[in-house]
Amino acid sequence: MKIPLTKIVATLGPATSGKKKIKGLAQAGVNVFRLNFSHGTHDTHAANYGFIREVSKEMNTHFSVLADMQGPKLRVGDFKEGQVILKIGQKFRLDMDPTLGNESRVSLMHPEIFAVLKKDMMLLLNDGQIQLCVNDFGEDYVDTTVVVGGILSNHKGVNVPDVVLPISALTEKDKNDLEFALDMGADWICLSFVQKPADVELARDLIKGRAGIIVKIEKPAALKELDQIIQLTDGVMVARGDLGVECPIESVPGIQREIVEKCRAAGKPVIVATQMLESMINAPVPTRAEVSDVAVAVFEGADAVMLSAETAMGNYPIQAVDMMKRIIMTAQQDSSYRRAMDASSMPPDNTIASAITSAMKQMAKVLNNPTCIVTYSVSGKTTQRASRERVMIPILNLTIDERVADKLALVWGVRSIVTHQLKDMTEVTPLAVEKAQEMGFAKKGDELIITAGIPFARQGSTNVLHVATV
Ligand code: PEP
Repeated sequence: MKIPLTKIVATLGPATSGKKKIKGLAQAGVNVFRLNFSHGTHDTHAANYGFIREVSKEMNTHFSVLADMQGPKLRVGDFKEGQVILKIGQKFRLDMDPTLGNESRVSLMHPEIFAVLKKDMMLLLNDGQIQLCVNDFGEDYVDTTVVVGGILSNHKGVNVPDVVLPISALTEKDKNDLEFALDMGADWICLSFVQKPADVELARDLIKGRAGIIVKIEKPAALKELDQIIQLTDGVMVARGDLGVECPIESVPGIQREIVEKCRAAGKPVIVATQMLESMINAPVPTRAEVSDVAVAVFEGADAVMLSAETAMGNYPIQAVDMMKRIIMTAQQDSSYRRAMDASSMPPDNTIASAITSAMKQMAKVLNNPTCIVTYSVSGKTTQRASRERVMIPILNLTIDERVADKLALVWGVRSIVTHQLKDMTEVTPLAVEKAQEMGFAKKGDELIITAGIPFARQGSTNVLHVATV
């Protein structure tokens, strides 16, 4: 059976809240549900979380839940009239005065910004649509000239791309949301506006292994420390929305390529996100350029592609998921995809686990009809290692841990089944044959490549490679 190997992440929102809608998304092909803590209430997130787990039981399929923290998003205050029009060349002040704003000023209650300003620096407002050049500043104000004008309304975001802001990636709201998401049982926590490795370390201290960490790369400062951040995190999201504001927009495709490549080399899941099928918020069919964008992320070997407003508040959420699935399935059949994945083979290091997984890839090339890789993996590490090789067949993850099965729904190629604790390889092979057939991944005469780590209870010990003919 052919299944999409690249995973689909769908953001829930007003258009997709409630069990029926969540089940519709799941049936259309969603593997990961994103709860966006920049919006919604704890009650709506908890209700949707419960529905996801109910749907999972009904469909006998595992889904990951990704809780996306808002992070220290900087915002202006409110205006007397709700909004103002800023004209090119006019002066405009941002300050710590909490009173309502007007054509000449608005509040910006973030003293940490004023501390790092420099003359001629650019401030970007409303997703970069408005640009202000810094003329003069003090500890509680900044005077600017409008370089690119437009409508500025209440509570719009402010980006300061040129500096490392002296702020943590977790605000008090985030810490509260984080505990809530962890108590609920989220599989992955997404950290927004990470600037430095210490931001990831702080989150790890708070999360204490209760969920995986996904760092959203959206700040130039994070790009400067990309290697160390990838080393510290469990996964990465290429958050192209803010990234395209903070960096020159034309540099985003190259940055995406670099991040995907580095994450793949490190064996950490990577999501390509934002505006992938943006026009489908309002139309049942995407643009050709959007289709191409999703396919490029697939060809690059991303673990997952993400829908944001398309599913959260769009008019065609199911069609958007279906479209993504069709793009993934078609890209998978393209011989250039296989060639690209082969060409980007990860050189094995001198560990047994690495030797086993590169041998697994070689085996898949020379065998007659390998249709599935089966991993027996208590922690999920062996499975992630197999996924990193991007062999173009599904990976059936047999695990004793429900949490591991849910978490790995994000990882390229992986489908999971929860089993009882197995004692040795003689138990693994018949179970692998049975479950691979049950999932439709193999039929009589097909070959399964089975990998595991012995002893079974020890993590990170991939050391067995076995071929079984069904
Ligand atoms: C982004 O900026 O691309 C992103 C995914 O984050 P958010 O949706 O929180 O803006």
